[in-house]
Amino acid sequence: MIHDGHIHTPFCPHGTKDSLHKYCEAAIKHKLTGITFTEHAPLPYSFVDPTPEQDSGMRWDDLEIYLKEVNKLKKEYKGDLEILVGLEVDYIEGFEKETTIFLDEFGPELDDSILSVHFLKINSEYVCIDYSPDVFEQASDLLGSIDSVYKLYYQTVLKSVQKDLGRNKPHRIGHITLARKFHKKFPASNPFTGELSTLLVEVKKKGYELDYNGAGTVKPLCKEPYPFNDVIQDAINLNIPLVYGSDAHQAASLLCGYSELSPQATFVKPAKLRN
Ligand SMILES: [Zn+2]
Ligand SMILES: [Zn+2]
Repeated sequence: MIHDGHIHTPFCPHGTKDSLHKYCEAAIKHKLTGITFTEHAPLPYSFVDPTPEQDSGMRWDDLEIYLKEVNKLKKEYKGDLEILVGLEVDYIEGFEKETTIFLDEFGPELDDSILSVHFLKINSEYVCIDYSPDVFEQASDLLGSIDSVYKLYYQTVLKSVQKDLGRNKPHRIGHITLARKFHKKFPASNPFTGELSTLLVEVKKKGYELDYNGAGTVKPLCKEPYPFNDVIQDAINLNIPLVYGSDAHQAASLLCGYSELSPQATFVKPAKLRN
């Protein structure tokens, strides 16, 4: 039983234009039992996307049509593939209020969702930490060291777990070690074992799931899943539910990294936000 709980779509402005159907057909071919489309939610209106093309999130104008199209597919594939409609929502420090308002409005339309950190707040500016090795290096210059970038990432993910974002807050935390996307070029000297274990304990306390994400295994400067093995072992010991995520931005990337994940891991289907 594999449910891929983290899939992007043609509505992603930085992804491919592979159609929703193409993803569904690929999922059936791979004998997945279900999938969740988790397109990047539109970013808060007052947030200025720091990436060059400002294309980190879905366009606001596309949100309704995205929800409508995925809902249409659910009926079309009924009996062959369980399709959940979801979003990958950004946790952005300082934008909790707008994010809560967004979730209050659109949360009831979702079956499933992920809360992820891509942006770090550094001296009142924001940096998209997984954008490129150059941007990672800029963050490290701003903070004074490579280790400080990792530390700030884990602190921000911890906040994402702890903060109240209203009753529709996503219950799955995305790629908690995304700060390691370029670790082969920018290795940390500290393993941050304490930070990661605090993070897992908090995830457990909240009853959240972890996105066990295969995308890092194919990134040339990462070559490991998010999170990596030691952390997954701790999560297994804590009995934290793990939901597999390919984080595919093209249909050919379904099941990305799956074969490299810990053989000790058992996967669950996301606990649905609604029935
Ligand atoms: Zn993400
Ligand atoms: Zn994603």
